[in-house]
Amino acid sequence: MRLFCYSLVLLIFAGCDRASEPEEPLDIILESGSVYSGENTEPKFADVGIRGDRIVAIGDLAGRSAATRIDVSNLAVVPGFVDIHSHAVRSDPEDGIFRWPDAENLIRQGVTTVVGGPDGSSPLPISGTLDAIERNPASVNFATFAGHGSIRRLIIGDDDRAPTDEELELMRGEVRTAMEQGAFGLSSGLIYLPGRFATTEEVIELAKVAAAYDGIYISHMREEGLDVLKSVEETIRIGEEGGLPTQLTHHKIVGAPMWGSSTETLRLVDEALARGVDVSIDQYPYTASSTSLTILFPGWSLDGGREALLQRLADPEQRQRIQADIVYRIEVDRGGNDPANVVLASCPHDNTINGLNLSELLRQEEREVSKENAAELLMELVEDGNCSAVFHAINSEDVRNIMRHPATMPASDGGIEGPSERVPHPRNYGTFARVLGYYVREQQVMPLHTAIHKMTMLPADRIGLSDRGRIVAGAIADIAVIDPATVIDKATFEDPHQYAEGAHYVFVSGVAVLSNSQMTGERPGKVLRSR
Ligand SMILES: [Zn+2]
Repeated sequence: MRLFCYSLVLLIFAGCDRASEPEEPLDIILESGSVYSGENTEPKFADVGIRGDRIVAIGDLAGRSAATRIDVSNLAVVPGFVDIHSHAVRSDPEDGIFRWPDAENLIRQGVTTVVGGPDGSSPLPISGTLDAIERNPASVNFATFAGHGSIRRLIIGDDDRAPTDEELELMRGEVRTAMEQGAFGLSSGLIYLPGRFATTEEVIELAKVAAAYDGIYISHMREEGLDVLKSVEETIRIGEEGGLPTQLTHHKIVGAPMWGSSTETLRLVDEALARGVDVSIDQYPYTASSTSLTILFPGWSLDGGREALLQRLADPEQRQRIQADIVYRIEVDRGGNDPANVVLASCPHDNTINGLNLSELLRQEEREVSKENAAELLMELVEDGNCSAVFHAINSEDVRNIMRHPATMPASDGGIEGPSERVPHPRNYGTFARVLGYYVREQQVMPLHTAIHKMTMLPADRIGLSDRGRIVAGAIADIAVIDPATVIDKATFEDPHQYAEGAHYVFVSGVAVLSNSQMTGERPGKVLRSR
């Protein structure tokens, strides 16, 4: 009987593995590493065998032949990281993934897959961008969400009003089309134009369409400062009533008056999870955020888009009201109660001021440093062409608290960057390495295997990528080999264009993109479609 069972097991094994006979030579063996499967479990000491684009064997492979053997002893062999909030595709079609397809800033952190279309903003139709990337592949894999804001703008522009029934139906159709073209869900940016003009009910209606295609909902919430609790409730409600998994993206608590309330936001998440709502969180590991300067402007002033805003700024009475509102936001929200906390990242109309904070720029212009003058300066900068900026207004205890939560995964909210005139947020270059080097190794916020789980299987499963984000036989060979003793981010707010250190090898679909810490120039990244 025992012999029979044994033979049966062998038969099943042979049957399962017929496509790749077990003793066929391997292409690559990563020898003697600490192998992290992507589960939230301790690593195993093992060899990993790759043939073609797949992981085909894990264990003692000393007796197997292989074209290439790489000694990775004392190194961690981990699934390539999945960045679930990425601005890899920019509104300028020559920027981001098309400008720097080697994505060295990501590869040197071990990132192998990025998910674009965040914050309610995606190209439409998404198929055009997916096809363009397929024609000009990058080193990393690319997937995307469909942006609610982009869809709303397409149908009703930047107006502050509800859609008619007919317009809502057209918006549903756009979500359907995007999902059929391979989007992994619906993103929203309910603080941005035009997402901020949408009611919760409108978003729920569109989330239902994404739900029918097994997509998720991921939201840059309406408010991350004084009203952050209401916004968490709204995000949970959209998941609950829309009937789909929901994610608080780049979750943070902005502005000193609310610091410490991550305890409350996480309690709301736990309560929702307990009643069966599928809620998750992503986060970048920094105490500053980054976005357009208009985030400090009152919502009503943005109604109708840039031209309408410029007209309001030209009207003295309205300009004064806008200024007063900006002063308030400098005090309690992203301004961190000090104009020095707002640092210009990229001003395309005048790149010489990139890197200066509002206090420095006021001094340079020989104006008194005050919140009122900072508000005036912000209005002038927006009139001149607008800038992106970095806002230092997050408390480090909230960062740790959110990071530790089991439903939280790191995500960059950055994109693909290379040396340029911009002074971007260091998250572009450092997010994943910073979690591993600073938060795990130096600060011991969580075990290494937990952090790796949060960067791999957790985000991959979130969007249904069942053959990535894990090291198991049969999975796609997206693998990073990193040194847990040295991995660290090098990018700072002052000097952000610095690659992370500690990654030795990165493979995407079995092709080495980083080898012996050198970029190979290969671009094996795939466009991933949900269907
Ligand atoms: Zn965002």
